[in-house]
Amino acid sequence: MIKTHNLTKEFTTTVAVKDLELNVDNGEIYGFLGPNGAGKTTTIMMLLGLEKPTAGSIEVFGKPLDKNYFEIKRKVGVVSENQYFYGEMTAWEYLNFFGRLYEVDEREKKIKALLERVKLYHRRNEMLLGYSHGMKQKIAIARALLHDPDLLILDEPQNGLDPYGIRDIRDIIGEENAKGRTVLISSHILSEIEQLCTRVGILSKGRLVAEGPLDIVKTKVQPDTTLIVEIENLTDAIKDKLASEPYVKKMQVEENKLILSVDREGDYRAQVARIINENSGLVVGMQTKTYSLEEAFIKITESSLESLIKEGTA
Ligand code: ADP
Ligand code: MG
Repeated sequence: MIKTHNLTKEFTTTVAVKDLELNVDNGEIYGFLGPNGAGKTTTIMMLLGLEKPTAGSIEVFGKPLDKNYFEIKRKVGVVSENQYFYGEMTAWEYLNFFGRLYEVDEREKKIKALLERVKLYHRRNEMLLGYSHGMKQKIAIARALLHDPDLLILDEPQNGLDPYGIRDIRDIIGEENAKGRTVLISSHILSEIEQLCTRVGILSKGRLVAEGPLDIVKTKVQPDTTLIVEIENLTDAIKDKLASEPYVKKMQVEENKLILSVDREGDYRAQVARIINENSGLVVGMQTKTYSLEEAFIKITESSLESLIKEGTA
């Protein structure tokens, strides 16, 4: 549905997107994740033909974007980050304006249905000037759906919304996908979109650092649990024995402390304590640190080890 090859965008001082190989399959909801500045918007602007790539190619619906721009554009619904709203128009007028532009059949009926869908029909005659950010986002979604697009490209559509707004938009996206529309949705907050996506790609500094079904990416991305064990009489025998245990993936020594990275799935505290006791040590303190997926996500997107993770993903 969307396929990029070596897609690159360099600005004078920044490389915003570098050698991006993006594949969004027909019918899926693809979560395009990454912290602020990762290059999501730049990528999306290129997919929409609004920024010219420095290098690389883009296919949408199996056709090169540059040669089929107008044909492709008619089948894409967009919520962009810097959406322009005509403040002096009412919500109804705004949608009607775009409905005409897109030559939408049964325009008024459709606008009514969409406004009801985003729960703003009763406010249709108010000017957009007076709309809150969340209300505007909903109007943007309605606009994106107006011409029955096959593909929805949504750049942080839930940005700045309260939990209800986030849920409303999530529900709409889910319903639209169930009707067969393919969705690319970007976010810098994993929890906003994780329930929605069939696959995610994590972008960091313009590069796709992990990609795949969310559960697979989760296991790749989520670091092991850390056990910090404070030991009296920390001997080499203890260190050697623990380092050779199968669930211990990494061990660091800091004075009388051992910092063990252990398998996230199990609880190894009793085993670790037993080994220390059996080797004449005494556990004087033990602490567990598990990263939530959200923390893991922040860690991975901030770290510079991303390329290592990519190698292992589906
Ligand atoms: P995201 O949407 O993931 O937050 P962006 O695509 O907006 O990231 O930005 C990626 C990088 O490209 C950032 O470092 C940003 O400052 C830079 N950038 C984006 N647009 C421009 C531009 N028009 N000129 C120069 N640099 C830009
Ligand atoms: Mg952005």
